[in-house]
Amino acid sequence: MQPQVTSLAASREEEQSSEPPSRPRAEEPPSPAPDCPAVSSRDSLWNDWRWQIRNRIRTLEQLSAYLPGLSERADLKAVISKYPMAITPYYASLIRVPDLSDPIFRMSIPNPQELSDPPCLSEDPLEEHVDMPVPGLIHRYKDRALLIATTTCSMYCRHCTRKRIAGTRETAISSRRLRQVVEYLQAHPEICDVIISGGDPLTMADAALESVLSAVRSVPSVQVIRIGTRVPVVLPMRITDALVQMLRKYHPLWINTHFNHPNELTAESSAACGKLADAGIPLGNQSVLLRGVNDRPQVLEELYRGLVRIRVRPYYLYQCDLVRGVEHFRTSVRAGIEIMEYLRGRLSGIAIPTFVVDAPHGGGKIPVLPNYVVSMSPTHTVLRNYEGLLIHYPEPGVETIPDEQTELHGTPGVWELAAGKASVIQPARTLRGQRREKIRNRSGLDATGFLFDS
Ligand code: SF4
Repeated sequence: MQPQVTSLAASREEEQSSEPPSRPRAEEPPSPAPDCPAVSSRDSLWNDWRWQIRNRIRTLEQLSAYLPGLSERADLKAVISKYPMAITPYYASLIRVPDLSDPIFRMSIPNPQELSDPPCLSEDPLEEHVDMPVPGLIHRYKDRALLIATTTCSMYCRHCTRKRIAGTRETAISSRRLRQVVEYLQAHPEICDVIISGGDPLTMADAALESVLSAVRSVPSVQVIRIGTRVPVVLPMRITDALVQMLRKYHPLWINTHFNHPNELTAESSAACGKLADAGIPLGNQSVLLRGVNDRPQVLEELYRGLVRIRVRPYYLYQCDLVRGVEHFRTSVRAGIEIMEYLRGRLSGIAIPTFVVDAPHGGGKIPVLPNYVVSMSPTHTVLRNYEGLLIHYPEPGVETIPDEQTELHGTPGVWELAAGKASVIQPARTLRGQRREKIRNRSGLDATGFLFDS
């Protein structure tokens, strides 16, 4: 049976222009192919999301025309036939260096390593298919469900965790399936939060997406709707005024997007996020820790600072799933812990995501942190901060003795902190300590911390 709600991408495939856009130079702003026959007004077409979808780079021939250095790479054909390729001209224009050293190249261009899988990988490591009471609806946590509304994306990320479905057939949920989903949600009022995902739901035409949103919103027990989308990153022109007007009818509505690298923070993606934020839609970001893309802490520091600047809250940093085709992207869990150690103290809490391992066998997200609890006793918990300062926290009702009144032989250690015989072990020569020293030496500082004019 033909699905009645189809993605625009699928329905317009026949309109695809024959010429892929030529590759802009690294320093140039994105621009469409000067020789594209469809281009009568360059800017208006470039900024038309439908044009971007119709002109996605989908074949090796189109890719070679865009990146001539890849014309000899017949080995990519086997990769593309197993895991489809699609790259919007906009996203392709963000490639600065046409090789694997470039994060955008790495995330979008097929790689023969996708075909080398160690045995620990599987197609569906999160076992989503066995948590689907209705086809397309994943019910794992009691109060939440995730709806796969489409299998289409504007760009097929090489690291996708749903490689088994994304792009294998570009289609969207049928009316019949949607009715089944609604019936299930009605029968399970404990589900108060529904995530509309895919594929990428924002590749659907406004009317098709609205039919999904209104169906979910019609269930009285659904309080919050969330949309998971990479569109603001790979197809920001999709965030049109008309789309935003439609979305704001379905509040409370949240959007989680998927930035992985600071090179994805462009004027276009900032404007897209700004439009959504202006419509009162809270924005979060779910990035994936990817080898060779963002596994240096400075890269993620820059990304997270940039996201907060454009009003997107870093929400999760995912450890790469054990999914087939992504081994070359996997890092150690240790690498993620090191990054979290680096970020704490350098970024404010709103810029620091939770680092999670999405557990195999459908175990859900497990937060992983550097160890901040150093020791515990019945009376005190010993904690460490990002500088290496050790401090004890007395439990309620515990009598504390000021440090200067305790009798210590030598300098305190962790045991003394846990036993309440000392409260703190300060590292020497921290930046904060040096700043404090200067403040103490200023005159006029009163006990409240304010400096008053004399
Ligand atoms: S946009 Fe999301 S679902 Fe689509 S390929 Fe990328 S990660 Fe996968």
